[in-house]
Amino acid sequence: MFDNLTNRLSVVIKTLRGEARLTEANIQDALREVRMALLEADVALPVVKEFIARVKEKAVGKEVMSSLSPGQALVGVVHQELIAIMGGEKADINLATVPPAVILMAGLQGAGKTTSSGKLAKWLMEQKKKKVLLVSCDTYRPAAIQQLELLANQTGTDFFPVHAGQQPKEIAAAALDFARRHFHDVMIVDTAGRLAIDEAMMEEIRELETLLKPIETLFVVDAMQGQDAVNTAKAFAEALPLTGVILTKLDGDARGGAALSVLQVTGKPIKFAGVAEKMTGLEAFHPDRMASRILG
Ligand code: GDP
Repeated sequence: MFDNLTNRLSVVIKTLRGEARLTEANIQDALREVRMALLEADVALPVVKEFIARVKEKAVGKEVMSSLSPGQALVGVVHQELIAIMGGEKADINLATVPPAVILMAGLQGAGKTTSSGKLAKWLMEQKKKKVLLVSCDTYRPAAIQQLELLANQTGTDFFPVHAGQQPKEIAAAALDFARRHFHDVMIVDTAGRLAIDEAMMEEIRELETLLKPIETLFVVDAMQGQDAVNTAKAFAEALPLTGVILTKLDGDARGGAALSVLQVTGKPIKFAGVAEKMTGLEAFHPDRMASRILG
């Protein structure tokens, strides 16, 4: 991921050798390399433009400390701005409400909602010592309900059973009542996704949102989707009051640009990253660690 940024920056570091100060003129080439690397990594163009402008503003006129080479100083600025564009601080999951804290999972089919629901349940049980209930409102694909039940069994999470013919709103209301009576701290609700954005799907999830009043509405998006991830993110952010993002499949050969674009497009931070198919493959998202990974 972002191999090119690392390579391109190492060329730049050499060309800047011997400069005492970063100027608009001497960082031109460097910024061009950064811009190319970001575009190659599938970062959305408006995001690239803003990023370059911010790096330029921070770097120009910067005195180079004697312990650093000018190239290193510029890489330092790029690093800081990568962190900033991903939200700066790590964004924690919010569970501060009267239990059960409802987490609604939204996203297209195949993004990794069901898998992430199972992983998140495991993470909350292990990291936060919470009693979790997994609920599937994906009545379009009975296989999706079975998939979630399987993951619940695998992770030792309580699962809310669904009967044939039940509608998503009925399931949600019954599950909420069940979670209250059984003192679950958290209830994770998986929803139906479609292959493409569709008004009926958005309407259904909006109704679930109104009914469940989730403390977290997490948009699940596949990092491999590249530019499409940005368009999908925009549509979901407009339709739903999202509170955060789960970026999945960062272990794949994704070019990773979505990690840099998603916050700016949705206005919401990435809270978790999916880094493997298995149930342990979910990590809290740290902008600083991601920035270091990007820079290699
Ligand atoms: P949903 O339709 O949004 O519920 O998507 P699924 O949870 O069924 O996931 C679709 C596919 O992506 C499955 O084969 C998952 O195993 C896979 N998947 C989900 N998250 C990750 C991840 O972080 N890494 C990898 N490698 N695969 C993932």
